[in-house]
Amino acid sequence: MRCEICGGSCRFDFTKRFDSFGLTDVQYWRCEDCGFVLSRTHAEMSPKDWMELNERCHATYQGHDENLLDPRWKSRMAAQARAIAELSGCGLLDPQGRWVDFGCGDGSLSDLLAADYRLGLPKYDKYMARDASYLSHQDLQPAAFDFVITSSVFEHLTRREQWDGIEALVCPAGAFGVATLVADRVPSDPDWFYLEPPHCAFFSNAAMDRLFKDWGYRCSIYDVAARLWIWFRSDPRAVSTKVDQLNGAGLGPYLFREGFLDYWKVDPRLRSA
Ligand SMILES: [Zn+2]
Repeated sequence: MRCEICGGSCRFDFTKRFDSFGLTDVQYWRCEDCGFVLSRTHAEMSPKDWMELNERCHATYQGHDENLLDPRWKSRMAAQARAIAELSGCGLLDPQGRWVDFGCGDGSLSDLLAADYRLGLPKYDKYMARDASYLSHQDLQPAAFDFVITSSVFEHLTRREQWDGIEALVCPAGAFGVATLVADRVPSDPDWFYLEPPHCAFFSNAAMDRLFKDWGYRCSIYDVAARLWIWFRSDPRAVSTKVDQLNGAGLGPYLFREGFLDYWKVDPRLRSA
């Protein structure tokens, strides 16, 4: 099996037994080059089984105040809304530009931005569009958006063209927001908390750095509370100057790096934050 991210060779790594959401033994395969881990079981699932799995999982929390599979969901989303508002305020994001929350689920982030910050973040969700306000598939033209955010989506995909397809929505001068778990090394441990039933893709820093470079980004901001990266193709010095201004004003705090910002350098289980 070839790695979906870098094309390197993958080997079987470990199995986890679920006995829930229609899953039994799930096999995780690891890339020997970039360390990306993919559930081969999910990747080879029939479209019908895939739909049923996702519907069962999402029904457990969408529209509710909390998600039992992810207890910090709401506080993380509030932090994401705060970060988007602050980055808009300093011009790193253009509030007059075309934005989309790709895979927004029930649209909580967009609702928060509208209610608390008067910012419009259009919603898109292939599976869970709730009303006519959601963008349609036809609205998603390549390079049509100045800002695309995708939160808790990357870990649900299995093929490179799916990640590429989301990123391709960002226009050349646009910004890309990504919130997913990235580990320096994905643990070979069936008890690792992130091995939830609908999660099938687990990124190492090297795998995420590969996507960052393949897509032509030059610098990144990370907000720890929001678990959110924002990537830019624009001049890193200009982005860095604005990040310094934000931090100097007591906002954020935002971390900045030219290149991909590999914040999570230790086993995530060892971090308390
Ligand atoms: Zn790889």
